[in-house]
Amino acid sequence: MSCASKSAAIAGVPVVRPGGGGGARYELDEEALRRVLLRPGVQELPAVVVSVAGAYRGGKSFILDFFLRYLTAPPPSQLSGEWLGIEDEPLKGFHWRGGAERDTTGIHLWPEPIVTTTSNGEKVGNPYTSCNLKMHFFWLTHTNVTNTVVTYTKANVAVLLMDTQGTFYSDSTIAQNSAIFALSTFISSVQIYNLSGNIKEDDLQPLQLFTAYGKLACEGDDKAFQTLLFLVRDWASPYEHAHGYCGGATLLSKRLQSKPNQNPELREVREHIRSCFDSIKCFLMPHPGHAVEKQNFTGCLRELTEKFRLKLLELVPSLFDTPKLINGERVRVQDLFDYFRKYVDIYNSDEAPEVTTIYKATADICLLAASRAASSVYAACMEPRINGPRSLSRRVLADAHAAARANAEKVYAQKKKLGSQTDVQDRLQELIKELQASLSHYELSNDANVRKTVSLARKAYDTAVSN
Ligand code: GDP
Ligand code: MG
Repeated sequence: MSCASKSAAIAGVPVVRPGGGGGARYELDEEALRRVLLRPGVQELPAVVVSVAGAYRGGKSFILDFFLRYLTAPPPSQLSGEWLGIEDEPLKGFHWRGGAERDTTGIHLWPEPIVTTTSNGEKVGNPYTSCNLKMHFFWLTHTNVTNTVVTYTKANVAVLLMDTQGTFYSDSTIAQNSAIFALSTFISSVQIYNLSGNIKEDDLQPLQLFTAYGKLACEGDDKAFQTLLFLVRDWASPYEHAHGYCGGATLLSKRLQSKPNQNPELREVREHIRSCFDSIKCFLMPHPGHAVEKQNFTGCLRELTEKFRLKLLELVPSLFDTPKLINGERVRVQDLFDYFRKYVDIYNSDEAPEVTTIYKATADICLLAASRAASSVYAACMEPRINGPRSLSRRVLADAHAAARANAEKVYAQKKKLGSQTDVQDRLQELIKELQASLSHYELSNDANVRKTVSLARKAYDTAVSN
């Protein structure tokens, strides 16, 4: 039996495009990014960001679609391996294709962050995870807002999948390629570096920036980045290094060894790379089978070799347990918006930005995120008081503000922060000003409530008297 024809449903959303208007090198589609990251119920969750980067036509979008299949499968089939799907189902999601032309340019995100849990947490169903538009529509029309909130408060992370432009394509300059690679590494918690056949000397070149950044950022115990996974496709020497993580580990230790005759810069990368990433791994993937060369290949399981399928079962479930951390703090989905904006700005203003500029930007956003978390705590303390059945006296309101502000300041103090003590203090002063402004706002709405209550009471009194 042959596979059903390949049809496009939802696809990745381009959020960063090379060559924006007005002379900018990159264009950030803020509207598209908002639609992905600022979803009610999802935006507050810690983000797990899995990116796939590497040369064009290396099978990046193709493998990402298996990630999607896994993440959107019901939990029992994730455990049993049935998530791989049925024999004749074409592979859908991020657009992948044969031919020699590049397909993805810049950075594409899957439009729906996928709510799930890390392996040590409880797994919950997620209505947003369906690739199937019909089911998605059903959910939208049959779930009320309260249900949504309940669903998401039980879940603990939202997975974002990121597909990036291939490196070293004839249309793109090397600087542009390494900028996209850098951007996607800064933003992701797991960067999958997709390579064809082997880890070659030149493949380490895009990692140079990270060693410099890592040296700057790693003064404390926390590493600047989480996981770097070299994913070697079409590994053809399994008798030397077996397919999977085990063979990957032995190949990696060989490739990361420093030798006297190496290019000095790449030798330095080898020496320092471990100080920037929490974990560096390698996975050796077998060839998927010769059906991939056919023009009408649809990606259905029937066309893939048994070996390839088995290794998908080993690789894919291992990838979604790493929440995005900056300076040891979990990054929420909504905070990623600021990181995208700031990093794209930096790369637009300087083709090869200094690592110190990127470090400073990261520190600023980190402070902003700490202060936002503190504001949320303040609002969570104040809202139930303000929206209670009775209006409050000015004094009670002032006491509630003082308690909420103390909680907010505690949260701000507890968050780990990058940057100088002066910056940390300045941001705290801003936060206090913002909380004071919120108090004025609460006072106004409380006074309006008081007036309403008084006028209702007067009306009731007048009615009673006239009767
Ligand atoms: P991308 O440009 O890196 O995103 O590559 P695509 O995912 O669009 O895939 C390009 C082509 O490579 C498609 O025809 C796929 O069928 C094929 N392909 C996917 N995975 C593999 C693999 O592991 N090995 C080989 N040789 N081809 C693959
Ligand atoms: Mg692609």
